[in-house]
This record gives sequence, C-alpha cells and structure tokens, in this order.
Amino acid sequence: MGDKRSGNYARGDNHWSHQHPDRVRHGSEHFNWRGERATVKAGRQRARASFALGPCERCGKNGVERHHKDANPLNNDPENIEILCRHCHMEIDGRLERFKLTSATAGLRDPRPCITCGEIARPARKGRCTNCAMYFRRTGVERPPALWGTKYSPRQAPTP
Ligand SMILES: [Zn+2]
Ligand SMILES: [Zn+2]
Repeated sequence: MGDKRSGNYARGDNHWSHQHPDRVRHGSEHFNWRGERATVKAGRQRARASFALGPCERCGKNGVERHHKDANPLNNDPENIEILCRHCHMEIDGRLERFKLTSATAGLRDPRPCITCGEIARPARKGRCTNCAMYFRRTGVERPPALWGTKYSPRQAPTP
C-alpha cells in the first residue's frame, strides 16, 4: 500500500494473494476490519472537535467528558451533547447500564433508546418510546426536549 516498489509485484502472479487465496478478505471479513468501532471513534472525535468544554452541567466542576444523551456517539446534535465531569459521567453511564440490565430482566425485549428523547425503552411504534409516540401521533411533530422525561398528557400537545 502506497509503496511504489510493490507495483509490479502486486499485479503479478507472485503476489501473496495468488499464493494464498484463502487469506484474501474484504470488508468485515478482512483481518483488520474495524467497522462499527471505527465509525464510533470517528463520531467521538467529531464531538470533541465541535464542542468546547466548560463546567460540568450537573455539578459545576471541571467538565472533561462529552456525554451523548442518547448513548449514540454518532449523534452530535448539540441537543444530544452534555458537558460533564468524570464523576457525573461515570454515574450516568453506570445508571444507564443498570437500567438496561433491569429492563432486560423485567422482560423488556431488546431495549433501546427512543429515537426522539433517548430514553431506554422497548422500541414501540417506529423506534419511539410510548410517550414520544403518542405525542407524535397526535401532533405530527417530534416531542420537544422540554417535555422529555415527562409522561405524555394530551394537554402538553398543541393541536396540529
Ligand atoms: Zn459533575
Ligand atoms: Zn421518547
């Protein structure tokens, strides 16, 4: 790769891929495939580049971590980023893990974050949690962040 001297060798029959056809792998088959993890890493790097650090949004200490509220490192929407100190971040991630575990044992099949508010729930109605799904069905728009974490009530929803 990138080595000019290998030009002829790479095209010739002496190339190792001709000698070892069983070792030729592409994409996810390739021995050095990084797939998902590569994109996740790139997402984190993008987040690092686009959001300056400030004080922790929970306790005011020195913020060092960018927390993705929906647990998706590729979602770098400013709404999804929270600056946290190490302690608060660990606490949130720990709670998230425990929540995933308890919801799994409570019989939630395949719990995942709601595509609107990020709350871990059994995916109901096109990936939205029950509350966001009801809001969306009634208004035709996504539930605004100000209402996330609250229970849906018809009074919250402006009539379309
Ligand atoms: Zn903190
Ligand atoms: Zn939701």
